[in-house]
Amino acid sequence: MKLLVTGGAGFIGGNFVLDAIASGDEIINLDALTYAGNRDTLAAIENDPNHVFVHGDIGDRALVAALLAEHRPDAVLNFAAESHVDRSIDGPAAFIQTNVVGTLALLEAVRDYWKTLEGAARENFRFLHVSTDEVYGTLGATGKFTETTAYAPNSPYSASKAASDHLVRAFHHTYGLPVLTTHCSNNYGPYHFPEKLIPLVIAKALAGAPLPVYGDGKQVRDWLFVTDHCEALRTVLARGRVGETYNVGGNAEMENIEVVKAICALLDARRPRADGQPRAVQITHVADRPGHDRRYAIDASKLRDELGWQPQYSFEQGIAATVDWYLDNQPWVQRVLDGSYRLERMGTA
Ligand code: NAD
Repeated sequence: MKLLVTGGAGFIGGNFVLDAIASGDEIINLDALTYAGNRDTLAAIENDPNHVFVHGDIGDRALVAALLAEHRPDAVLNFAAESHVDRSIDGPAAFIQTNVVGTLALLEAVRDYWKTLEGAARENFRFLHVSTDEVYGTLGATGKFTETTAYAPNSPYSASKAASDHLVRAFHHTYGLPVLTTHCSNNYGPYHFPEKLIPLVIAKALAGAPLPVYGDGKQVRDWLFVTDHCEALRTVLARGRVGETYNVGGNAEMENIEVVKAICALLDARRPRADGQPRAVQITHVADRPGHDRRYAIDASKLRDELGWQPQYSFEQGIAATVDWYLDNQPWVQRVLDGSYRLERMGTA
């Protein structure tokens, strides 16, 4: 397939693009290369004739229109976003600009292109919007988010993603654009920018620095290894019902503190501290994130029962693979940290 992917130099988009090129797809990769975008992630496919990288903004409707007219993709996958909750607390405007205004410009360009298609090309075209479970808000001790859970976003990030979801839905109902939307739980794995919990803890643990755990650390997330998410997206793209939403989750609920301890144990086994102390001694509880959602859990039975997708990685397998990847790819981490981000705390409001 020929796909226009947005945000393909980021964490999930980058993993998706690498897998897609390996599978023989043609990718036009539109990315604004914000602090979170990293062409290093794409080094292995830099000269691949099936990969065209375009440095640009999804909010540039004329650019998107020109790319669509030139390359005539079979589908568009929208990963591009401002994605970090803490940053959205410090500066929500960038989130509205890319996630809402940018998504609107992208949708308008894609709608105009889709209207020019005929026959099977028009029938089979899809716009897949990659969204998050955070639009549903927070859960108590029991229950899971389903596709019919009411939206209740609590952070500027999740509010901006919720708004973009509504625009995507509206473009289907108003203009007939064949859209699909996915709501995925927390991802982890290779090429994850080290401001997010798992790569941050790995980086700080190796540096001998305090490991910041927000509040009591008992916030629960349902962790999904990134390649399982990418496979879910391919499944939804191939067989999802137009206009539907699909939840994607790993059946791997963990408290943040358990995640941090698991990383410490893996590093203790692979790279023991020089003084022989366990890395858990570096754990430091810090003030909680304002408005921190307590628990997310995903019911992914619709995706399993309708389309046959299931995660392949348990949390134990995925976290071990992730720690090993970071140990083997320290130059990637160092180059990311050569930019403006230095592992500092953000989003304390
Ligand atoms: P990321 O921050 O690692 O990457 C985002 C990418 O988008 C970067 O390469 C960045 O340069 C690019 N980008 C930002 N603004 C842009 C713009 N205006 N135009 C073009 N490109 C732009 O994010 P991620 O973790 O890979 O998340 C990708 C998508 O998946 C996001 O839409 C996010 O909301 C969603 N999502 C993420 C998770 C998760 O756990 N990371 C879970 C569920 C859903």
